[in-house]
Amino acid sequence: MIILVMNAGSSSLKYQLYDMSNESVLAQGRVERIGMDSSIVTHEPGGKPEVRQVSEILDHNGAVRNVIELLTHADHGVLRSMKEIKAVGHRVVHGGESFKHSTLVTPEVKTEIRRLFDLAPLHNPPAMMGISAVEMNMPDVPQAVVFDTAFHQSMPKETFLYPIPMVLYRRHKIRRYGFHGTSHDYVSRQAAEKLGKPLESLKMVTCHIGNGASCTAILNGRSYDTSMGLTPLEGLMMGTRSGDLDPAIVPFTMNKEELTLSEVNSMLNKHSGLQAISGISSDMREITEAMAEGDKQAKLAFDMYTYRLRKYIGAYAAGMNGIDTLIFTAGVGENSAAVRQAVCENLTFMGIELDEARNAERSKEARFISTDGSRVSVLVVPTNEELLIARDTYQLVKE
Ligand code: ADP
Repeated sequence: MIILVMNAGSSSLKYQLYDMSNESVLAQGRVERIGMDSSIVTHEPGGKPEVRQVSEILDHNGAVRNVIELLTHADHGVLRSMKEIKAVGHRVVHGGESFKHSTLVTPEVKTEIRRLFDLAPLHNPPAMMGISAVEMNMPDVPQAVVFDTAFHQSMPKETFLYPIPMVLYRRHKIRRYGFHGTSHDYVSRQAAEKLGKPLESLKMVTCHIGNGASCTAILNGRSYDTSMGLTPLEGLMMGTRSGDLDPAIVPFTMNKEELTLSEVNSMLNKHSGLQAISGISSDMREITEAMAEGDKQAKLAFDMYTYRLRKYIGAYAAGMNGIDTLIFTAGVGENSAAVRQAVCENLTFMGIELDEARNAERSKEARFISTDGSRVSVLVVPTNEELLIARDTYQLVKE
């Protein structure tokens, strides 16, 4: 079965075409700058040269049309007809409390996703545009939605509620939702497979550290607690996001600096984190390079970043009465041996022992980086959210 996976942002659309008979990627690509002066389309058809086009794409509908044209193009295509696509799976960031699992798109599901616009004003509307665009261009093809929040719906009240008046939860559903759920879910399954143990028997902490970063405590295969909250701002220090801080800093800063709500929001989401402390970049590669050249601010940013992550691992170990598996994934987690080493350095008391040579290795495969004697197994597992979306879509369509 051939499945198209879509991830729509406000001005972008990423896609992967899967052949589920062997889970291979037939083609992938992205449309960027949708609705702007010159949109850029990058299309990578398996086994053929990459195609890059600059054209005017007004909206997501136009973007989907463009993707279909490329997938079925005589030279750049990989399909004879778009009829070969049997289902489309979409990434949707926020499923609120309504969606505990991936689901097929129905009129009711669309209404519910729209109702959740309030909780994810930047992310859910583009996903809806993607769904409508597919409806328009491929009217008979079933669609599925896979939510970033769904995996975390297993959290108990004591971890998902905030200690603020309950009326705010009842009235506005203010609570911890957590994000990157597909990634935490995917890497925990991969790790259990690699360990040869049932997922249900393990206590894990998964660290998804990319531009956005979150850490999850997984108890018996289910999310027990996670560092992102009502929005993806809470928790770890990130590329440009602050992560945890004293909430009183918000009104204090607004008062002192005469900032508006939107300015303080932008400060915490776009001008904080690694970028703010290093004064150099939000990119961990540039931070580590500057550190190697002796830049003190870069070193401080790195130390804060790794210290804060280590604190979360310790907190989750306490929350679950210990851990037996620690997993690193996403851009920084998969590629930065320096970050992994710094995080694990002071965790020897918990039975975490890294193997220096294994940690330094580079590979695209899931692998152990702890010593054979380490009480806690530490793994690097490349994430693959698109594959999980394709798998969930396949299961739903097959049923
Ligand atoms: P996103 O959250 O946008 O999906 P990624 O998971 O791709 O991001 O992670 C992107 C981040 O990964 C970059 O900002 C960069 O800091 C980091 N990164 C990628 N390669 C390396 C590397 N070799 N060393 C350190 N950091 C890296």
